[in-house]
Amino acid sequence: MTQFKGILLEHTLKICNRCILPETFPGIHFDAAGICNHCTREAPALAKAGERKEAYRRRLDDLIAGVRGSAPTYDAILAYSGGKDSSYTLKLLRDRYDLRILALTFDNHFISPAAAENIRTVTDRLLVDCVTFKPPWPILRDLFASAALEDVFPAPTLIRASAICTACISMVKSLVLKTALEMSIPLVAFGWSPGQAPIQSAIMRASSSLTCQSQKTLLEGLPGGLASGLGRYFLPDGYYEIFKDRFPHNVHPLAFFDYDEAEIVAELGKVGWKTPADTDTNSSNCLLNAFANQCHLQRHQFHPYVWEIANMVRQGVMSRDEGIQKIYTDQDPAQVGYARTMLGLQ
Ligand SMILES: [Zn+2]
Repeated sequence: MTQFKGILLEHTLKICNRCILPETFPGIHFDAAGICNHCTREAPALAKAGERKEAYRRRLDDLIAGVRGSAPTYDAILAYSGGKDSSYTLKLLRDRYDLRILALTFDNHFISPAAAENIRTVTDRLLVDCVTFKPPWPILRDLFASAALEDVFPAPTLIRASAICTACISMVKSLVLKTALEMSIPLVAFGWSPGQAPIQSAIMRASSSLTCQSQKTLLEGLPGGLASGLGRYFLPDGYYEIFKDRFPHNVHPLAFFDYDEAEIVAELGKVGWKTPADTDTNSSNCLLNAFANQCHLQRHQFHPYVWEIANMVRQGVMSRDEGIQKIYTDQDPAQVGYARTMLGLQ
């Protein structure tokens, strides 16, 4: 396995001089100045990022003005992990728009105790209803253990996230959409960081046909036996027709609001959110993440968060040194060992 830690990085792994993507990243190449093709391609769009973000803020203002109060229950449902980004998204939507929000927390059995406390405190302080959805442990154990041992998802998804993360997030996305449809909630909000999901998809109506297609691809790719046990967490076939006029807008506002990690943490402190000390450098809520990262690194030789963090470095919302620190640091062996033992993988 490639050594990623500290000084060895300089000698063993070439990384982009601007954004930190490594030479092991699929399809990457560098120019004479050591700048990667992604940095070169993104440069024109980044020059206009300010205007673009302003335009998206106005679009969200208009969208919310049109739907606020229209549903009998909630204006928005938020996929709420208790981590920094989804907590900040929740605060933003409450403070700026005073929305009626249902926060849905997916209990994957690896929520850190500090994150669980943050979920309780923040939803209380922001006067938000919160429901937790917890599938039985054997179902998630089998899914995560399977994703730990092999890449059970299509290759393009694994450029942006580990197989374990993709498994978990796929369930979260389906559950919030399913709940939004059943409760006639017009907005589905996510706390994707500005590096995690592009601004182009930051305000977008969910499509019945695309959702149907991607769900089918996902379930068909899973090893035999797993998909049948997971079916009930995804959209039943009939929903695409029954609710076709009720598909909500997906929004991820952090793509176009100011994003500064220190300011976000300070702002969240006002509603009682505390930085957890029990998770890895890329997560503020999940005790499975370090192991998921390790599995991905071993199989692909690049960190599953490097795409996200490189995007943030390129956008100037994170310093390059901080990005290197987050990505090119070994996973904590204690955290890796904890998840491995829990999943019965020795
Ligand atoms: Zn680059």
